[in-house]
Amino acid sequence: MKKAFISKEQAEAIAREYPTPFYIYDEKGIRENARAVNKAFSWNKGFREYFAVKATPNPEILKVLLEEGCGFDCSSMAELVLSRAVGAKGADIMFSSNDTPVEEFVYAGELDSIINLDDLTHVDYFIENNIPFKETMCCRFNPGGVFKMSNGIMDNPGDSKYGMSEEQMAEAFTKMMEHGVKHFGIHAFLASNTVTNEYYPQLAGQLFELAIRLKEATGADITFINLSGGVGIPYTPDQTPNDIAVIGEGVHKKFDEIMVPAGLGDVAIFTEMGRYMMGPFGSLVTRAIHEKHIYKEYIGVDACAANLMRPAMYGSYHHITVLGKENEPCDHLYDVTGSLCENNDKFAIDRKLPKIDMGDLIYIHDAGAHGFAMGYNYNGRLWSSELLLQEDGSVRCIRRAQTMRDYFATFDELPVFNAIEDAIEESGQQ
Ligand SMILES: *Cc1c(COP(=O)(O)O)cnc(C)c1O
Repeated sequence: MKKAFISKEQAEAIAREYPTPFYIYDEKGIRENARAVNKAFSWNKGFREYFAVKATPNPEILKVLLEEGCGFDCSSMAELVLSRAVGAKGADIMFSSNDTPVEEFVYAGELDSIINLDDLTHVDYFIENNIPFKETMCCRFNPGGVFKMSNGIMDNPGDSKYGMSEEQMAEAFTKMMEHGVKHFGIHAFLASNTVTNEYYPQLAGQLFELAIRLKEATGADITFINLSGGVGIPYTPDQTPNDIAVIGEGVHKKFDEIMVPAGLGDVAIFTEMGRYMMGPFGSLVTRAIHEKHIYKEYIGVDACAANLMRPAMYGSYHHITVLGKENEPCDHLYDVTGSLCENNDKFAIDRKLPKIDMGDLIYIHDAGAHGFAMGYNYNGRLWSSELLLQEDGSVRCIRRAQTMRDYFATFDELPVFNAIEDAIEESGQQ
């Protein structure tokens, strides 16, 4: 059973101050989960979770995670700027980007963050553009082929644009050592949203063996292994959630089997989870504003795919609770839709739900990661507010809703801008 972390009464009270749709995050859940992650890997001295900023790029969320000991995994200039702004510095930041422009490498270097190179050619890119190497550098590994787990889940590294082969890793290490780099990390992200306790241990085993081979081949000093993201969450109610303690122990076992006998027992383990850190602790709350009976039954809500893109983009399932009707039978079959002029703008298709009345609050679960972050402005739909349910039960606005003035702001150099301002005024909106 998936349970909403706010009640209908709470949601209605919040909606009086912050109109729907809004995102709301659960600070208590975020903190408890982050503590469980740190505990699960506490056997490893250098362990650190570098929260993948792209999942939930909100400074107030980042502050909470920084307080819980997390660093930040960034992959763009804006994410570096945001991490810096909340006080991250030096090794608090892991820069795991790909297809990266010069100025982003330069700024990441100036912040003294740990830079993860996606490709062998980036070594020459550094040299040609006079970007100084850091004393510690990381390289991203892609073994190709398919990554299979015993439950049949697999992913396709051979088809993905990321990382480099083992031979290229060795060449990159050797070349960077010639340029004064002293320490190295190994990074790989080989499967996404894995709802199994097997993924990290299996990946770790593979990377530990790679570390030993690379050390033998190049003499490089390897100081950390970054297991990156990919630990998933159960979006559907029938899935069994991952147990981070079991995952941590699984990695521990591989570490003791492979790294310790090879004299690599001091190597630090890093993770870069996004979804697992935030997914379940954020939801999108929206209101039913239309019902439509044609060849199917439709419920129209005041949020749309511009607020939460995953269902439209990936066909993802997001569980829905009709607030206040948690205990009513799910005896109606609905498509729950947004307003975009795109037929994929559906939060749910053929979903069994309780009878929905106009004005009901619809709580869309597991939107805390890759939710608001993937928002866009198609059809002139604006971003919602983001709210934080604090530990004392009070609610704080951590990003106001986008206004039309924000949306049109980049026309400010055109003569038509004054007319836009006038029309906004006339519309009674902001
Ligand atoms: C997206 C991403 C992550 C986070 O992935 P999750 O599936 O959200 O855990 C971590 N590292 C890198 C490099 C990424 O691109």
